[in-house]
Amino acid sequence: MNQNEVRERLISGNKRFQANKNTAHQRLDNKKSLLQGQKPFAAILCCSDSRVPPEYIFDCALGELFVIRVAGNVATPETVASLEYAVSVLNTGVLVVLGHEKCGAVSAALDKVRLSPNLNQLIHHIEIGLEKVNDEKNPVKNNVKYVSQKITKDSEILAEAQNSNQVSILKAYYNLESGHVDFI
Ligand SMILES: [Zn+2]
Repeated sequence: MNQNEVRERLISGNKRFQANKNTAHQRLDNKKSLLQGQKPFAAILCCSDSRVPPEYIFDCALGELFVIRVAGNVATPETVASLEYAVSVLNTGVLVVLGHEKCGAVSAALDKVRLSPNLNQLIHHIEIGLEKVNDEKNPVKNNVKYVSQKITKDSEILAEAQNSNQVSILKAYYNLESGHVDFI
């Protein structure tokens, strides 16, 4: 699949999800073939929120999505490294930074919540992003935009892949009630 086809595949999968017509569960009989390796067509950096599992919302089965989940879908050395692996080892041509409505991590950053040194560090990543990107009314979308810039700023591999059109980076926002993913 080329990059446009991947985008269309994600959109069509999301349409099936919104209509409660997921089909991915019918394609779980490929476990043996996956022993030979994986070739996911997209890598998704998204929040850990239990309401936003990428495989469901894009109606994908085993081996189709390379998923990196962390609260607030932040760009850290670990999440960027995972995206680098998807691009440089698995040849994944599409990266998606996916935020979602009512993200608790983004709310915590806005409310300047302080919980523990570890959580404070994670929230700090989002606070920095919201200071730097402020062109949307919706802070979750600003966070997505910031993260999508930061992953190439922090990674030569990703920057070069994007510049040479080896990879495209999509920014997305998930609506909790409708299940619709907006590409922003
Ligand atoms: Zn979240």
